[in-house]
Amino acid sequence: MIANELISVVVPLYNEAENVQPLLERIRTALTALRYELILVDDGSRDATVRQVRQYADAQTKLVVLARNYGQTAAMAAGIDAAQGDYIVTLDGDLQNDPADIPAMHQLAQTGDWDVVAGNRANRQDGLLLRKLPSRLANALIRRLTGVYIDDYGCTLKLFRRDIAKNLGLYGDMHRFIPPLAVLQGARITQMNVRHHPRLHGASKYGLGRIGPVLSDLLLVLFWQRYFRRPMRLFGPLAAVSLLAGAGVSIYLLIQKLMGATLGGNSLLLLAAVLLLGGFQLLAFGLIAEMQMRTYHESAHKPTYRVREIIEAE
Ligand code: UDP
Ligand code: MG
Repeated sequence: MIANELISVVVPLYNEAENVQPLLERIRTALTALRYELILVDDGSRDATVRQVRQYADAQTKLVVLARNYGQTAAMAAGIDAAQGDYIVTLDGDLQNDPADIPAMHQLAQTGDWDVVAGNRANRQDGLLLRKLPSRLANALIRRLTGVYIDDYGCTLKLFRRDIAKNLGLYGDMHRFIPPLAVLQGARITQMNVRHHPRLHGASKYGLGRIGPVLSDLLLVLFWQRYFRRPMRLFGPLAAVSLLAGAGVSIYLLIQKLMGATLGGNSLLLLAAVLLLGGFQLLAFGLIAEMQMRTYHESAHKPTYRVREIIEAE
C-alpha cells in the first residue's frame, strides 16, 4: 500500500449554492484520514454557488469555473482534467451520494484488483416512476449491449485509477456510459453498494426532457458497438444484396435477349439499373462513412468546455 496516494474528489455543481457548505463539511469529515484534493466545477451556475465556494473553500479546494452551462458530463470532464490525484472520485454536489463511502471504495481499489469501483445505489432515493423505472430499463439495455455487468451505470459516485479517468473521452451525455467507456480502456471494474439520500436542497436538474437525449445516447452506443466503428459492416452487405440482385436481373434479361426477345419497354431493365446504381452508391456511402469515422475519432479529442477561471487558495 502506498501511503502517500492522492485522491482527487471531483464534484460538478450547477445551481447548488445551498448545498456547498454541507457538501464541503461532509467531504472533510469523511476524508480526514486520507490525502485528498477537492475539485469543484461550477457549470455556469446562475445562483450564489461560486460565492459560496469562495467563502467555504480551504487550501485543498480548487474551483474550476466554466464559461457557461455545458451539462454534467462536460463539467465532470473539466474536473477530471484538472485533477492531479492517483485516484479520481466523482460525486454529485447535492449530497445524494455520501462522501462517507469514499474510504471504503479507495480501500477496495487499493487491493490492486480493480481500476474502477462503481457505486451501486442499492437503496436509491428517487421517484419510482420517472426515475427508477427508466433507469432500470436503461441499465438492463446497457448491460446487454455492452456486456459490462454492473447494476447501476448512472450513479455518479465512482472511483477511478487516474489513467482510466483521464482517458474516458467524455462528451455529450456520456457520463451515463462511463463503465463501458472505461472497459474500452481496458479497465477492470467492480461495484460496491453505496448509500443514497434524497436531494438535500434545491431540485433535480433533470426532468422528463432527459429521456430523449439518454435514448439517443443509448442508440449511439448500440450502433457504435455494431457499426459505427466499421460502417462498411452496415453498408457493405446492403450494397452486396443490391448489386447481386441487379446482376441477377441483368443476367435474366441477357438470357432473354439471347433467346431473341425484344427488351425495349421492359420494366425489369429499369429495375436492374436502379439496383446496380443503388448498390454502387451504398458502397460509396460506406466508404465515405469509414473515412468520416476517422475524422470523428480525431475530433472527439476537441475540448467540450471552456474554462473561465480556476480559483485556488493562495
Ligand atoms: N449538474 C451539472 N450541470 C448540469 C446539470 C447537473 O453540473 O447541467 C450537476 C448537479 O449540480 C449535481 C449533479 O450534476 O451535482 C447531478 O445533478 P442532479 O442532482 O440534478 O441529477 P439527479 O440526481 O436528479 O440525477
Ligand atoms: Mg441529484
